Amino acid sequence: MSAQKIVFKVLVVGDFAVGKTSIIKRYVQNVFNPLYKLTIGVDFLEKTVDWDQQTRVTLQLWDVAANERFGHMTSVYYKNAIAAIIVADLERPATLETALKWKEDINEVVSLADGTPIPFLLLANKVDSEDASLDREYLNQFTKEKGFIQWFDTSAKQNVNIDKAMTLLIQTILDLG
Ligand code: GDP
Ligand code: MG
Repeated sequence: MSAQKIVFKVLVVGDFAVGKTSIIKRYVQNVFNPLYKLTIGVDFLEKTVDWDQQTRVTLQLWDVAANERFGHMTSVYYKNAIAAIIVADLERPATLETALKWKEDINEVVSLADGTPIPFLLLANKVDSEDASLDREYLNQFTKEKGFIQWFDTSAKQNVNIDKAMTLLIQTILDLG
């Protein structure tokens, strides 16, 4: 039996240095590099998952550089995206506010075929850090109020919750029909 092959374009956005590239590399290549290397422009990495016997999913994770200004040049990259992962940094609470700006920016450019917003997943990264401050109650509320499908505390460094978050995202996309 030949499996159904589907490609999903997923945007990965968020403030500068929150860990977007690190999360993608951990998920796709299972590596972590502690040295910071600026992402220039846009790049994507793909990971193929055998979801079930009938379904082979390829996630195309688009690493959109944070130094691009909102609404400027990025709209080209947003095209045809079916979901977005917005990353915040638990060491810097202000990155949650930036997360909202990305969400608005994406919503202005892309939507699902029926006109409703694409699903957004929130990753609160660097939970391993001793400088991380994690307020679960606040994040639960934030997620609900701002219309994210879910949030996860993650660590690209220690590989915490990344597979779990991606699995939920794939499930959500498949459920769109
Ligand atoms: P980007 O600009 O959002 O792509 O961020 P990077 O993935 O380049 O990461 C920025 C910096 O944060 C790098 O020095 C990473 O090593 C570090 N970093 C990324 N993820 C984690 C994490 O989960 N824990 C910790 N402690 N550091 C991280
Ligand atoms: Mg990067």
